[in-house]
Amino acid sequence: MKKNERIDTRLIHTGSNPNKQNGAVNTPVYRASTVIFPTTENLAEALKFKYDKTFYGVHGTPSSFALEEAMAEIEGGYRAISVSSGLAAITTALITFLNTGDHLLMVDSVYGPTRNFCDTVLKKFGVETTYYDPMAGSQIKNLIKSETKVIFTESPGSYTFEVQDIPQITKIAKEFGIKVMMDNTWSAGFYYKPFNFGIDISIQATTKYQAGHSDVILGHIISKSEEDWLKLKTMTSNLGQAVAPDACYLALRGLRTLSVRLEQHQESALTVAEWLKNRPEVIQLLHPAFESCPGHDIWKRDFSGSSGLFSFIIQYVQPEKVRNMLNNFQYFKMGFSWGGFESLILQSDPAKNRSAVKWENSGLLFRVHIGQEDVQDLISDLKIGFDRLSGK
Ligand SMILES: *Cc1c(COP(=O)(O)O)cnc(C)c1O
Repeated sequence: MKKNERIDTRLIHTGSNPNKQNGAVNTPVYRASTVIFPTTENLAEALKFKYDKTFYGVHGTPSSFALEEAMAEIEGGYRAISVSSGLAAITTALITFLNTGDHLLMVDSVYGPTRNFCDTVLKKFGVETTYYDPMAGSQIKNLIKSETKVIFTESPGSYTFEVQDIPQITKIAKEFGIKVMMDNTWSAGFYYKPFNFGIDISIQATTKYQAGHSDVILGHIISKSEEDWLKLKTMTSNLGQAVAPDACYLALRGLRTLSVRLEQHQESALTVAEWLKNRPEVIQLLHPAFESCPGHDIWKRDFSGSSGLFSFIIQYVQPEKVRNMLNNFQYFKMGFSWGGFESLILQSDPAKNRSAVKWENSGLLFRVHIGQEDVQDLISDLKIGFDRLSGK
């Protein structure tokens, strides 16, 4: 980020270069597979810089480069790489730095498809995964082996919201020469700056808050160093990972309003969470800004805000009552993903996805994404939903 500018200002101007676009404020959608070169000299020159200039559609277009510039700047990294989805960003980063025989430390609260990738694809290629307690902090040292090459973090966990002590983990990882990656999707790179806490590689499911309108699938890998960027870009290219310029255009357009949208998500989510906290049905609030969330103190220390995604746990009730609650919300719709303008709710059983630490809570967990509807309408929707739980 330019020293004299604040993030809200950069969000408006990053990745934008009207002088190069006939004065158009937005970098247009460059639909390109073939790029032609007027002379053999030009072609040879382009080959030398094939990751930096428009060379062939697979390696990037001005549409993807503009978005990458913005993503790297928001996270505070060296450079970003656009890939086809958030999950692709995770899997590409992992296989860039892991080889057969290596060992991976993976946080137990991780996004389900990441766990699935470790248990199937990485396993098949002879990479061993050990899951660790999200609250491990410096205790992670006890799990490190000579083969450990990567520690993967996700903070907070996107269903159970444990906030990890990243500085403790990265300090130990540095002693052992281990790369530390973080899935930083929850904060959108806006409320958490991973490279200030020792992270080497940050991952964004751009699908969520950056795109922000539930109509784009895209991911980014952002590195702190040039060396790591080149390794990641080479792997991305070897895999034939390419992104649609239309998706990049939409994500960059979404980014322009990231700050105002996030502030609203934050405020409404805090209001709904505060209301939930005082409800008799709710036994625990898993929102990083509340004391009942594991790692709340770490969130207070390291984050500058909170987004619209959190969970709450209610006392056990019969499944048919839960179905009646979920099937009849007016605004809280059931669906995967999040980060759009609309509110969402999902029931989830974390016990199914735990191996390091048992999930022993007997209550029922619901994850909500608080959208841009009027917050009083959302609270009233939840209140009427709770009435259906008690059979009223
Ligand atoms: C949604 C999500 C992803 C995956 O993003 P897609 O673009 O849907 O593949 C990864 N990590 C977290 C935390 C997510 O919420």
